[in-house]
Amino acid sequence: MIERIREPAAMAARARALAAAGRALGFVPTMGALHRGHLSLVERARATCGAVVVSIFVNPLQFGPAEDFARYPRDLDADVALLGEAGCDAVFAPEAAAMYPPGSSTRVDNAALAARFEGAQRPGHFAGVLTVVAKLFHVVQPAVAFFGQKDAQQCALVLRMVQDLDFPLRVEVLPTVREPDGLALSSRNRYLGAAGRVRARALSRGLAAAEARFRSGETSGAALVAALRAELIREEGVLEDYAALVDPATFQDLEVARAGALLVVAARVDGTRLLDNAVLGGGTLTSVR
Ligand code: AMP
Repeated sequence: MIERIREPAAMAARARALAAAGRALGFVPTMGALHRGHLSLVERARATCGAVVVSIFVNPLQFGPAEDFARYPRDLDADVALLGEAGCDAVFAPEAAAMYPPGSSTRVDNAALAARFEGAQRPGHFAGVLTVVAKLFHVVQPAVAFFGQKDAQQCALVLRMVQDLDFPLRVEVLPTVREPDGLALSSRNRYLGAAGRVRARALSRGLAAAEARFRSGETSGAALVAALRAELIREEGVLEDYAALVDPATFQDLEVARAGALLVVAARVDGTRLLDNAVLGGGTLTSVR
C-alpha cells in the first residue's frame, strides 16, 4: 500500500529515512489528474533512483485570479491508485494551508526569464511555480527531480534556479508524451470538446512542419516560425498566443536556427490554452544545454 503524506514535516522525516537507508531519492512534482506523461516521469525515476516520491498539489500561487484554479481537475484517489501501480514509494499531497500558513510571504522569482511567453501571458505564474518547487525541494530533499519538456519555460526556470541557488540535486528533463495523432498529453486536454480535440492537433502539426523545413535546410528563424504559424491559421477556432524560435536556456529569440534551438507555441483552442514545443534536431532541454 502506497504511503500518502499530508504534512511537510512528516514528508521531510520520511525522505530522510529513505536517504538514510541509502536510497537515492527521485522526485516528481505534479498537480495531479495524472496521465501517461506524468507516469513517464515516475517510470524514469523508478528505473534510475532507489526510491520515488511524487507530490500532488494544485498550487494556488501559480494561478491568476481569472484562471482555472477552482475547476482544475482533481482526483486524488485515482492518482494514488495509479502511483501505487507505478511503484512509487510515497505521495506527498499537502493542503494549501500546510504549504502556505498565515504570514507566509517569501517568493522565489526570476523576472528576466519569466518576462516573456508563459510569464507574460500569466503574470505571477512563474513566481508561484518557483516558490512551490523550491519549497518542495526543501521538504523532499531529492537527489534527482524529474520534469517534462512539455513545460519548457518552466524547465528553463527550474534549471536556472537550481544552479543559481545551489540546490544540491540534479534535474532531468524528459520528452513530451503525445497522443497517437501528435497532441501533447495535458491535464487540460479534458476541457476540450470533440471539435476542439481535432483542432488541437494544429499545434503539433505546426511544430512538425517547421521541423521538416529545418531538416530540409531552412535556417531562418522567421521562416520556421511562419511554417508553424501557417498550421495554426489554417485551423478555424485556434488562436495563437505566441509562436517563436528561442534559445532553450534564455528564451531569447533566435534569428538563425541551429540544432538544439527550441520552437515554442501556445494557442487557445475553444477557450482552452494549450502549449507545445520541439527541440530542433531532437533531444531534450537538458541534453542540448
Ligand atoms: P503538471 O501536473 O501539469 O504540473 O505536470 C507535472 C509534470 O509533468 C511537469 O514536469 C510537466 O512538464 C510534466 N508533464 C505534463 N505533461 C506531460 C507530457 N505530455 N509528457 C511529459 N511530461 C509531462
